[in-house]
Amino acid sequence: MDLSIIIPLYNEAESLPELKAWIDASLKDFSYELIFVDDGSTDDSWKVIQEMAGKDVHGIRFRRNYGKSAALYEGFAAAKGKVVVTMDADLQDSPEEIPEMVRMIREEGYDLVSGWKQKRKDNALTKNIPSKLYNWTARRVTGIKLHDMNCGLKAYRADVVKNIEVYGEMHRYIPYLAKNAGFDKIGEKRVQHQKRKYGKSKFGLDRFVHGMLDLMSLRFLSRFGGRPMHFFGTSGILMFLVGFVMTVWIIAAKLYHQANGLKFRAVTDQPLFYLALVALVLGVILFLAGFLGEMIARSSEGRNNYQIKERV
Ligand code: UDP
Ligand code: MG
Repeated sequence: MDLSIIIPLYNEAESLPELKAWIDASLKDFSYELIFVDDGSTDDSWKVIQEMAGKDVHGIRFRRNYGKSAALYEGFAAAKGKVVVTMDADLQDSPEEIPEMVRMIREEGYDLVSGWKQKRKDNALTKNIPSKLYNWTARRVTGIKLHDMNCGLKAYRADVVKNIEVYGEMHRYIPYLAKNAGFDKIGEKRVQHQKRKYGKSKFGLDRFVHGMLDLMSLRFLSRFGGRPMHFFGTSGILMFLVGFVMTVWIIAAKLYHQANGLKFRAVTDQPLFYLALVALVLGVILFLAGFLGEMIARSSEGRNNYQIKERV
């Protein structure tokens, strides 16, 4: 099997037959399977999928709506092709782009090729402009030079999807997950984009808030996920030291004034006392967070999952 085409969908019944016909017309030179993942649709999507199902057309139906990441996760698990392609179900992504993306993987050695909707046919205010900002941030944080990180149309070497785990809403950052797993030959291809023909978009503006938080989590995890004590311990010790020095200073000043018969005020009357108190307590808390994090990291299942490229 050359390709697995994974199509996550939620209430896209009208689009599906057209989408299948369009894919079939675009991929004449390949052997491929279609995997429709119905993410708990409440319209006729599943009925349509059942009618289309056959030898190389499969459907997976969730009992409820879990989100696009979950759908991709199950699709990746089921995929049998040497190259795995994902695309949206709403006819916005063009399957005519697939052959070139596959060629880039096969011949140019890319691990992952992401689409780039350079001329995006969505609402400018709610999608296009925020998306530019979002992608700029994502480029800086992840160090991956993609213009359209969250494009639904992507192609992967099968290895990649079998070795990363998409969860939560992390479908936005699959290139980053791939990079963190050591698949760093990541390319992009400009792709045609269409206006949504049927139904409506499933993602609102909250995706930018969630997206940014997820980006921070991933960045932190990739840096300190396996060694939380290095982050929390360092900041905890620094904080504690600051508090300690202040405390010593407060006591020394008090003793000095007392010994020399100078005027002095109560220790609790000075701001420094409270700052020292906060710093000491924060230091201990941070240190404790690091220690707890270390215990979690130590018992986590993936603590020794390394990507081995080759052996001889
Ligand atoms: N989708 C999904 N589960 C969800 C939300 C969306 O499987 O909970 C699918 C949706 O049916 C479509 C793709 O993800 O195939 C992209 O969604 P959409 O077109 O709404 O996003 P947009 O293009 O507006 O960013
Ligand atoms: Mg869409």
